[in-house]
Amino acid sequence: MKLQISSLLLASLASSTLAAYNPHSQHKHWLTSRADTSDDVSKVNNKDFDFIVVGGGVGGLAVAARISENENLTVAVIEAGGDGSEHEDQIYIPGYSYLNGLTVSDYDWNYKVVQQQVINGNDQTFGSRWPRGKGLGGSGAINGLFWCRASSDEYNAWNTLNPDSRIDWGWEEMQKYMKKSETLHKPSQEHIDTFNINFDEEYHGTDGPIQVGWPYYIYDPVKHWIPAYDSLGINIPEDGASGNNHGPVITTSTINPSNMSRSDPKAGYIDPLPPRPNLTILTNHQVTTVDFSDEKDADGNLVANGVYFGKTDGSTDSNDYFRATANKEVILSGGTVNTPQTLQLSGIGPEDLLQQYDIEVKNALPGVGHNLQDHAATSVYFNTNVAETWYELKDDQTAAVELEKWRNDDGKSKWSYVNQAIAYPDANDIMSDQLDNFSSNIQNNIDEYADSVKNMYNEDDTVIAGMREQWNITHGYLDKEVGQLEMLMTMLGGGPGEIGFQLAIQHPFSRGVIEIQSKDPFTHPAIDPGYLTHSADMEIMRQGVRFAIELSKAGEMGDYITKQENYNNNTDEAIDMAIRNDAHTEYHPLGTAAMLPLNKGGVVNTSLIVYGTSNLRVVDSSIIPIEISAHLMATTYGIAEKAADIIKTHYSQDDPDERNKQGSSSSEEGDGDSGANKKGIAIGVVVGIVGLATIGAVAWAVRRNMKKRAWAHSMAVSTGRGVEAEGEGSPTWGYKEGSSANLTGGVGAGGLAAAGAGAGAVAVTSQSDDTLSPSRPSFHSYDGFDGGAGVAVSDLLTNGHGYGVVPQHDFSRSISSIERAEQAQAQAQAQAHTHAQDEYQQTPSLSSTHDVHTTPLFKQ
Ligand SMILES: Cc1cc2nc3c(=O)[nH]c(=O)nc-3n(C[C@H](O)[C@H](O)[C@H](O)COP(=O)(O)OP(=O)(O)OC[C@H]3O[C@@H](n4cnc5c(N)ncnc54)[C@H](O)[C@@H]3O)c2cc1C
Repeated sequence: MKLQISSLLLASLASSTLAAYNPHSQHKHWLTSRADTSDDVSKVNNKDFDFIVVGGGVGGLAVAARISENENLTVAVIEAGGDGSEHEDQIYIPGYSYLNGLTVSDYDWNYKVVQQQVINGNDQTFGSRWPRGKGLGGSGAINGLFWCRASSDEYNAWNTLNPDSRIDWGWEEMQKYMKKSETLHKPSQEHIDTFNINFDEEYHGTDGPIQVGWPYYIYDPVKHWIPAYDSLGINIPEDGASGNNHGPVITTSTINPSNMSRSDPKAGYIDPLPPRPNLTILTNHQVTTVDFSDEKDADGNLVANGVYFGKTDGSTDSNDYFRATANKEVILSGGTVNTPQTLQLSGIGPEDLLQQYDIEVKNALPGVGHNLQDHAATSVYFNTNVAETWYELKDDQTAAVELEKWRNDDGKSKWSYVNQAIAYPDANDIMSDQLDNFSSNIQNNIDEYADSVKNMYNEDDTVIAGMREQWNITHGYLDKEVGQLEMLMTMLGGGPGEIGFQLAIQHPFSRGVIEIQSKDPFTHPAIDPGYLTHSADMEIMRQGVRFAIELSKAGEMGDYITKQENYNNNTDEAIDMAIRNDAHTEYHPLGTAAMLPLNKGGVVNTSLIVYGTSNLRVVDSSIIPIEISAHLMATTYGIAEKAADIIKTHYSQDDPDERNKQGSSSSEEGDGDSGANKKGIAIGVVVGIVGLATIGAVAWAVRRNMKKRAWAHSMAVSTGRGVEAEGEGSPTWGYKEGSSANLTGGVGAGGLAAAGAGAGAVAVTSQSDDTLSPSRPSFHSYDGFDGGAGVAVSDLLTNGHGYGVVPQHDFSRSISSIERAEQAQAQAQAQAHTHAQDEYQQTPSLSSTHDVHTTPLFKQ
């Protein structure tokens, strides 16, 4: 009975809270107190926190939310941009965020790449732009909502690149953590049937903070996507998240189906939180440098004491920068551009570079900002025989009508639509007859390209050594079912009735670099992605263009598409030139603080600690050592979830309450939580509110149950009695079996000593990789962390029991009158439109005119 009440209560709390995601929802709920978020600098300046997280994006908000689940750990997030309240429609309305989105706005860093050697984008063109989210949610608030994973080989490669690590970053582990961050909402049967949506719940999370699913409205031609590949004989994955993403999928998006709003890092990890006084979020302030102690730790590592920061508008004089103290760690989560910039400004980076800007070299780390990789993209545009595409929403009146529907009818509107049709063809799919030649050319030219990278970027030999290992892996992918290209169907072309296939190289051999070009933290660093500087990348893109055109004629896709608009000349030279004129970022840069061994140009070890420091960690996409065939958001959440477990495990002994309990309680039946219970009951009595007392009592019962289980587990670990084998009972950050890596049981003097870590705690000695002690209690000792009666509900909500409790959206009921009317309208339009597809089918693949015409995925 108690449990029933509890479930009901939690479900109603959670569902009401989720309604608050939609700023226009009439169901807005009172439970929105959450973390203390403001731009009031006095809340952070001159204050002490256990953890300071630099950047409130995907990695930053996820790791901050998870660490602060322990109410005894204080966390501050410092975010350069705003809280998003001025841009709610552009963030939370899925389709609207594409067509009227936040690229080129104050929620975008508005970076530009330096003039590229191979592509022609210059300062004026879209090709030079490098959007990155600037504000709470980071790029996760301005991105295309694609929620997808790479294949298992690609995550396992992270282990291959870190052979001595004891921490497992392979597929099973990453899959576990990506699942932890997600709650899947199934599509309607009608959508499954119409659009050939393949999915299997086994590969998805059920109670993570990020809500993922399919839009209420999907443009009808998307139904041609999967059959087109099928007709070309290409693999159809059972689910893109299964570890084999080779082929086409109608993938999930970060959409909360309860109201069809974007589930971004803030909506997922922060907004649903109950009051959490140990989490402070400061907006509109930019961290300038990490403040290191003059003293090093016993192992000679730098100790981060805190950070300096100023107002993001640059109005703070550098002599008056604010400062906050980190008692335990500074966590850099500024993303692939800013994390290396902050490191370099703080004296950690390539020695020559730092000296050039008169920055004291605290730690010469040549890999910082180097090893940059990105997916370069271009698009092929087509005319179709159906007038209705995304372009219709560029009409003000239609847009307004659909906006009304979105606001007033739980998002049941065309604005719910986002592109979801993607595919990852492998090398064999796109160049089967030339593959052997292509592969051996690459093998023969590795030395030459290594030399050229060395010259281009004055690259250190250790960084080159790391790249060589990556290139071997990338080369090996040619023989595997690993996506070489991403093909993406966009319902927006250059005009009415036009659509596009965007194609992007997934495993570039090319490398780039990000380096400061001023000592001033408010000056953007120089970004050189080195697009297509390896000729193999151009070749893959070229074949991609040809593949896209072949696809446009396949199956019923060929009946729908009537004409190809650009890429009209089939010679290699013409296609290459068109690519040079158009290629731009697919928004997936990584690798600038790579998780690699130090002698391979690494910046962080596999605990994500920056080499040569005792307590400076990186938790964002910059740590990914080698590109993956996926958009990066789900992977970055997975990294943050795993990092949070690593961190919590490190500090799990810091909680004196927990230590005492472990010391005094020797049995599962022990009454070690009685203190917390008494506190809870006392609060209930003092407050004297019947409802609150009820909540407290119910929560107490559930929590007590959880604690008993948690204690049993942690006791089993700490007393060496063993834990249940693999699965839920094993350390959640996953040891790799059979590793010979050295374990150091010592406590890194800086952060842990300052924090007063107790017996059994083990820290990182950052120069050696991954030094977690096998005797360390597992993260499970955190479950059911204590709290009083009022807090107990929040305790349940924040320990994974509240996230994701979303009322299932009843698609079968809601797709009814509106959609039927729309379908009728679409049919009428289709009939009225001229059917020129036969003509297109009969034309040669590419005609002789060369006219590059491009429409970027996001607004210019
Ligand atoms: C336009 C666009 C579209 C994309 N589309 C998709 C997609 O559809 N699906 C997908 O999976 N991925 C997509 N991505 C990529 C994905 O969003 C990113 O890879 C992911 O957000 C990276 O997470 P992160 O934590 O590394 O950085 P971010 O999410 O960018 O977060 C970094 C945060 O740190 C802040 N910050 C930086 N420097 C400082 C500083 N010095 N002080 C304080 N704060 C600072 C930033 O303002 C930002 O909020 C897209 C990206 C973009 C830009």
